[in-house]
Amino acid sequence: MNPYDFDLFVIGGGSGGVRAARMAAQRGARVALAEASGQAGLGGTCVNAGCIPKKLYGYAAHYATAQRESQGYGWEGPAARLNWATLKANRARELARLNAVYADMLRASGVTLLEGSARLLDPHTLSLASLNADGSPGQRTFSAERILIATGAAPFLPHFQGREHALSSTELFEIEPFPQRLLVVGGGYIACELASIFHGLGAQVTQLYRGEQILRGFDDELRHFLAAELLKQGLDLRLQAGVLSLERHADGLHAALEDGNTLVVDAALYATGRRPNVQGLGLEALGVAQGPQGEIVVDARYQTSVPSVYAVGDVTAQLQLTPVALAQAMRMVEHLYGPDPNRPGHSSPAPDFDLVPTAVFTHPCLASVGLSEAQARQRYGQVSIYRSEFRALRHTLSGSSERTLIKLIVHDDTDRVLGLHMVGAEAGEIVQGFAVALQAGATKAVFDATLGIHPTAAEEFVTLRTPLRRAATP
Ligand code: FAD
Ligand code: NDP
Repeated sequence: MNPYDFDLFVIGGGSGGVRAARMAAQRGARVALAEASGQAGLGGTCVNAGCIPKKLYGYAAHYATAQRESQGYGWEGPAARLNWATLKANRARELARLNAVYADMLRASGVTLLEGSARLLDPHTLSLASLNADGSPGQRTFSAERILIATGAAPFLPHFQGREHALSSTELFEIEPFPQRLLVVGGGYIACELASIFHGLGAQVTQLYRGEQILRGFDDELRHFLAAELLKQGLDLRLQAGVLSLERHADGLHAALEDGNTLVVDAALYATGRRPNVQGLGLEALGVAQGPQGEIVVDARYQTSVPSVYAVGDVTAQLQLTPVALAQAMRMVEHLYGPDPNRPGHSSPAPDFDLVPTAVFTHPCLASVGLSEAQARQRYGQVSIYRSEFRALRHTLSGSSERTLIKLIVHDDTDRVLGLHMVGAEAGEIVQGFAVALQAGATKAVFDATLGIHPTAAEEFVTLRTPLRRAATP
């Protein structure tokens, strides 16, 4: 008989925690899940301050573009205006609905839901700090055979003069009133997406990135292509640029820039990375090994240096993506509690970090699966590059000068497609489908044998016949 209150105690109700709790409970484990923000926090960053609100605002921005472009298709009449308060209120309503769906789903699976901030006391005991019914601080203690830390990550802002005036992405989602002039610092996923989305919503956006080109780590050609598209739309993207200080004045925030200029804006978003949420968890006292930025070090089974303690998701700082957290959670649960009883013989593989499909939801969208040209050349030497750049059919009448880029990287020796990349409308939707092909090890011959769906942009991926160039190891 297990002497603990629970078989598994999950700390954090985000993507990884919810998936692990539910899957473990479905396999008969006695599971508790503690979420610091209670039901309103269920779903974690993705639902409450990440993927979902970001995508909803992205859809809102697309309507502005669609209205402009519709004129070429014969639509007439005054353009509608954005009511920011309505958009925010509708977003909040949808997120609350999702929070409730998560709560119902967890309870239906038999998970005990707890509200409060958890701290590890020893390898099998936790304390949970929450408010009592009368509002006074309360403390409860629980024991568990195993503890899963899935506490995610939080925005990191560098130190500089006037940092208190800078906003994180979480705060930008809530900002009031709508920022007509927005400064965005950073060149990663969040900076690019929110700069593009707020530009689409009508803000005058200046994005500053410290390096030579945005989206370090993605295929170089795509990075340059996307940057050119964003600039073409009027987004003021400045490279090798940064802020020295921020000061509040009557006419707005004054950003003193490294090049000596001053920019006056209504708000400044800092999207300069996210760091693991480990403060207050009691990891040091317990001897849980951590990396340089506090990330929890795990082995291939997501076990930490303390055998009863596991960790998945952003807190492990591997790839900070929802599907990665989900895959890690499922693998961990299968390892501890066995395979899915509904799918005998099936087991969830660990995410293959060479084949994680990903999208940057800018307008146009950038999406990739597999290796960039530089990575492929470095790893495999002789590769062939297939590439096509075109104006999508939709833009023949829309008046937009937006262009689409697609690119395939093929290993010459084996004919395997090593990387597939796109900048263009719905790139995320398109690349998701092709990711299955790459996961299955598809060769260029398989792409060639596949018929297109005409007329689509995606069909270009199966009609590329002549390599643009062959690249050998530099
Ligand atoms: P989280 O979802 O962050 O959940 C952690 C939870 O733990 C939180 O709810 C927190 O309140 C709780 N918690 C923390 N400490 C404690 C404690 N001591 N006790 C109890 N509870 C605690 N990924 C994508 O794949 N696609 C996207 O489009 C995308 N867009 C994003 C946009 C933005 C603006 C941001 C910020 C992120 C985005 N991400 C996206 C990343 C994605 O949100 C994360 O990778 C994912 O949410 C990680 O899940 P997680 O379970 O590790 O952590
Ligand atoms: P990223 O790590 O993607 O980007 C951080 C950016 O900030 C980089 O351009 C980095 O520059 C820059 N930077 C870092 N430190 C400083 C500094 N001190 N001063 C100026 N610039 C700085 O982090 P994000 O915050 O954009 O997002 C966090 C993670 O969330 C992402 O990595 C991603 O995993 C996930 N996410 C996923 C999304 C999706 O799937 N669509 C969307 C949003 C987030 P440099 O490149 O030079 O280091």
